[in-house]
Amino acid sequence: MPLVTTGELIAGASTEGRALAAFNVITLEHAEAIATGAEEAGAAAVLQVSENAVKFHGGNVLAIAAAAAAVARASSAPLSLHLDHVVSVELLHSAHEAGFSSAMFDASKMTYDENVKATAEAVRWGHQRGIWIEAELGKVGGKEGEAPLDAHTPGVRTDPQEAATYVADTGVDALAVAVGSSHAMTERTASLDHELIAQLRDAVPVPLVLHGSSGVPDEEIRRAAAAGMVKINVGTALNTAFSGAVRAYLDAHPGTVDPRKYIAPGRDAMAATVAHFLRTVG
Ligand SMILES: [Zn+2]
Repeated sequence: MPLVTTGELIAGASTEGRALAAFNVITLEHAEAIATGAEEAGAAAVLQVSENAVKFHGGNVLAIAAAAAAVARASSAPLSLHLDHVVSVELLHSAHEAGFSSAMFDASKMTYDENVKATAEAVRWGHQRGIWIEAELGKVGGKEGEAPLDAHTPGVRTDPQEAATYVADTGVDALAVAVGSSHAMTERTASLDHELIAQLRDAVPVPLVLHGSSGVPDEEIRRAAAAGMVKINVGTALNTAFSGAVRAYLDAHPGTVDPRKYIAPGRDAMAATVAHFLRTVG
């Protein structure tokens, strides 16, 4: 089916009181696995390409975006394209040409005032082009080059009043919040601050986004979705599934040289993971 926009999918999920899962695309096979998993689960999903993934592709956002878009258009599931964790304004400004309907502008490393100024500018730019903008307040730890922070590290939380002011001052369409999850967790042991999620839900007028959901157990994700977390970002869980299946294949068949032999089970494992998360949030 034609590409849908992230804004439409989020609005539909909000109206129906459920969450929408977003999955990180690193390779063509990630995109294929997300489409297959979404078809299996009979659910919509977001295909998101991060700035780090763009760097992996030599800084060429157009190739991976075109591949993800072509996979999405060939799928029977409603799928949208999102540019994730964008720090570079230049990359943000390529979102439209590359076919993304939404972007997460990540100014979380800036001071609060700088963050508000840069994010408001990104929102103005996006809204002139019909691009939905997500931002982040309260640092979610564990991105590349940083040690994953313990979910209960003091200070790694979003303040509800500050979040409300931030949304009003920037005009963002959705807000990623720090409520106990951390990026790049390979075990699902995070516990979320459900009281804080409820406070944020009451204070913040836009959909809330949970990053680092790979490390959050199913039941915690279900509770977060029921409490009003609308976009659930999943990246590492796909890579754990992919690498585990590839490693198992190569351990069992050490003479293999054709990459299709081991990438196929890796892609199947990612598709099963996608279907599992979609059933969990749906
Ligand atoms: Zn994230």
